[in-house]
Amino acid sequence: ETPIERKPPWIKIKAKMGPEYSELHSLVKREGLHTVCQEAGCPNIYECWEDREATFLIGGDQCTRRCDFCQIATGKPSPLDRLEPTKVAESVRKMELRYATVTGVARDDLDDGGAWLYAETVRKIHELNPGTGVELLIPDFNSDDDQLGEVFGSRPEVLAHNIETVPRIFKRIRPGFRYERSLEVISKARADGLVTKSNLILGMGEDRAEISEAMRDLHEAGCDLLTITQYLRPSKLHHPIDRWVRPEEFVELSEEAEAIGFAGAMSGPLVRSSYRAGRLYQQAAEK
Ligand code: SF4
Ligand code: SF4
Repeated sequence: ETPIERKPPWIKIKAKMGPEYSELHSLVKREGLHTVCQEAGCPNIYECWEDREATFLIGGDQCTRRCDFCQIATGKPSPLDRLEPTKVAESVRKMELRYATVTGVARDDLDDGGAWLYAETVRKIHELNPGTGVELLIPDFNSDDDQLGEVFGSRPEVLAHNIETVPRIFKRIRPGFRYERSLEVISKARADGLVTKSNLILGMGEDRAEISEAMRDLHEAGCDLLTITQYLRPSKLHHPIDRWVRPEEFVELSEEAEAIGFAGAMSGPLVRSSYRAGRLYQQAAEK
């Protein structure tokens, strides 16, 4: 462990277990349900589950792209599981979630890029859980209008697409994506009348001015909600950590986001793009 890999004191888990968390924890175990919250060992699980919010991964555990910060394996995905949307919707129902985030791997191996899978999952969650909000975090579908049209047509409460980093280092960090194309996906979602959201991961080599610029680009592209997070290196094979952003800087950035005009922003060392997502959506909707 090099000094830079050592976590600063503010990266620590607040393990406060409330009654809702405890109930969900035993239910998920009993029913054998799968959530990103547990499987990625997310530090926010006590808070999110207490609010009846959770995240699900669709499309399998192999991604056709390779981002330098991501712990999901790159490889040949398993065949499409057409029952997956129903299984996720059933999990949401059993967990009595108020708000569910759905994300998934890029499926460039499929003719529709996985558009049906993403859209059908939103449709099924809504069908089985009329009161539950759905946040859909998508890959870029190469900005293909037919694929995006199908996905947008499923009408998630929030459509998220993460740009993650700034233009100068983008190609290195997300070789399968393009900065401008990602902004375009957000613009298209907004033009379709959806509430949009994105994320920036800090500590991968960007500088302060570049962060501000990326925030302005996102706002201009029509992004409503923003999360700003600290990069944590999943393994030695992943992009090295460049710096630990101090808690004060995260506070400044969230103020800056509001000043730029975002409807809502969450920014902090342990924030994830799905952190208290329902709360952020609600906050913005009330504005
Ligand atoms: Fe990870 Fe998404 Fe990149 Fe695939 S496309 S490697 S799931 S961040
Ligand atoms: Fe789950 Fe996301 Fe909350 Fe982590 S931040 S506990 S993954 S909903």
